[in-house]
Amino acid sequence: MRGIVFFTDSRAHEDVTVFDTTLRDGEQTPGIAFTFEQKIEIARQLSSIGVHTIEAGFPASSAAEKETVSAIRKLDLDTNICGLARSVKADVDAAIDCDVDMVHVFIPTSDIQRENTINKSREQVLGITDEIIRYIRGHVNKCMFSPMDATRTDPDYLVEVCRTAAQAGATIINIPDTVGVISPSGMKALMGRLVSEVDCPLDVHCHNDFGLAVANTIAAVEAGASQVQVTINGLGERAGNADLAQTVMIMESIYGIHTGIKKEMLVETSRLVSRFSGISIAPTQPVVGENVFSHESGIHTQGVLKCSATFEPGIMTPEMVGHRRKLTLGKHVGRHAVRQMLADVHLQPDDTQLDTIVGRVKVIANKGKRVTDADLYEIADSVMGIKAGEKVFQLEDIAIMTGNHVIPTASVKALVNGTEHVYSSVGNGPVDAALKAIVGIIPSRIQLTEFNIEAISGGSDAICRVTIAVEDERGRVYDASGSGDDIVLASVDALVNAINLTSRN
Ligand code: MN
Repeated sequence: MRGIVFFTDSRAHEDVTVFDTTLRDGEQTPGIAFTFEQKIEIARQLSSIGVHTIEAGFPASSAAEKETVSAIRKLDLDTNICGLARSVKADVDAAIDCDVDMVHVFIPTSDIQRENTINKSREQVLGITDEIIRYIRGHVNKCMFSPMDATRTDPDYLVEVCRTAAQAGATIINIPDTVGVISPSGMKALMGRLVSEVDCPLDVHCHNDFGLAVANTIAAVEAGASQVQVTINGLGERAGNADLAQTVMIMESIYGIHTGIKKEMLVETSRLVSRFSGISIAPTQPVVGENVFSHESGIHTQGVLKCSATFEPGIMTPEMVGHRRKLTLGKHVGRHAVRQMLADVHLQPDDTQLDTIVGRVKVIANKGKRVTDADLYEIADSVMGIKAGEKVFQLEDIAIMTGNHVIPTASVKALVNGTEHVYSSVGNGPVDAALKAIVGIIPSRIQLTEFNIEAISGGSDAICRVTIAVEDERGRVYDASGSGDDIVLASVDALVNAINLTSRN
């Protein structure tokens, strides 16, 4: 399905390939260092979502990096593996040693970078470009060339460098907006000129210093770029690079361009990289953020319940990107949403009861507290005079052992549907061990989809509140919270409350 606005005068290709540099530029994000195992898992994920080329790293930068790029190449994934190199033979040889499918070679071309880094004349840069690309093509089939800082390079000279690279055998030329300074219209003009004057497919690499990375990437595509360089969650140096999920969804949904990306895996991919990078996804992050398909205000939820496209793009649905639609309880909540959320667990309050329930939800929400599913059901039960039934899961005992020389271990004794079970588990920490032991004891398969801790008061004796969301086997999500001065027990409480909600349906 195409968007409402489709640029028929656009020079955009019908197919645009995706080049992912999460493992190279993304790893240069300040504070990020993926482990070897994490890099392997990210590479596998990128391949399974259909990325055309993975930039696996910069082999000449260290022995460990070289080993990683080699190992990723040896996975024999269904995607091209690329290694980065400066325009020197030693760098190129390091990439070739990794048996990469493509060498990505770069050289600074703007006056400011040329003079402050390699200190070579414009003429010398042309010579080096020609020589290094011919050398690469003598060993590897695919060569990507980047005139670094292209957007701050004299455009006439940039055309000359790109033509030299194309003649020397570059199979694709990347136009980097290295410091993120171009505007979308500037990019469209620049890329348009290069497309018409350089005989080689073009790629684009944008940085987000002014928040324009995705817009500039799309502008380049409008002007005829054949490939986009992106990273998962927009990771990258400084403010990062163009985000894969956003760039892909704009191309697919608004422009009708085919990228070959399995869009339904976008959310899980974003979460995987968020977990590995330690950089959390903002709730308002486009496409993958928690709020993208969440509705709270009365008018919106009423519209969405009738027809989801009323207050959603419609050309992008939660199913398309592996997300889910969520009605949330807050101070703007309306009767329709509450009625729907209660109907999902077979609670049918009459109109007066419903008004009372909505009123109580708003009282909690107005205090700035999150109203969880557990809170809502508890309110509904009390308003409707329903006596709480027997809980499916009743915790009897929990013991946790942790320390600097022991593996955190938790043992749990609990009644599950009236029968006593004992289970223990190890974990990354005491909370992880405790939650794993509890999940291990219940017969149905549930998945923890959210875990949040907030300290309610400062100091080491702070009361903390843990909010947890779990997804049951049918894909329904429930959230619940627990609080107390013990972080492990508050987490356990929240999980037990959430598990007991899954049996209400
Ligand atoms: Mn970069």
